[in-house]
Amino acid sequence: MPERSKFSAFIQGRCPVCKEGRVFLFPWYNYRRFAVTSQECLICGCRHEPETGFYFGAMYFSYALAAGTGAVGGMMLVGAGYDVNLVTLAIPLLIALMLPIALRTSRLLMLYWIKPTMYKDIVARERAAWEEIKNKRK
Ligand SMILES: [Zn+2]
Repeated sequence: MPERSKFSAFIQGRCPVCKEGRVFLFPWYNYRRFAVTSQECLICGCRHEPETGFYFGAMYFSYALAAGTGAVGGMMLVGAGYDVNLVTLAIPLLIALMLPIALRTSRLLMLYWIKPTMYKDIVARERAAWEEIKNKRK
């Protein structure tokens, strides 16, 4: 099987190191468990939560995604000719419907962008360990 690209792995919610293991244990449409994140990758063993509270930073991404969703969605609805008062009521509903996708996208941004920036040595070790595992597989 050819290796996934980083973008493809991100879209599919896969581990940033091996691009195979799943980051989330349940599908996004499981509204009770969509946020359950695996502690570590089942394929390469890298930690998906390098320290307690790592995902607090995801709130900033989540906020930006919700604001963007509200702004773009609101403008599209007004542009489509809906009443502004109705659109004002519809925006929170739109944001609530987008919650699973926004939450997962913001956690993946933490894993793909912030973790390699803040935990360079840990990520380098995890990548080296994964290269060893891959070489043993061949
Ligand atoms: Zn992995």
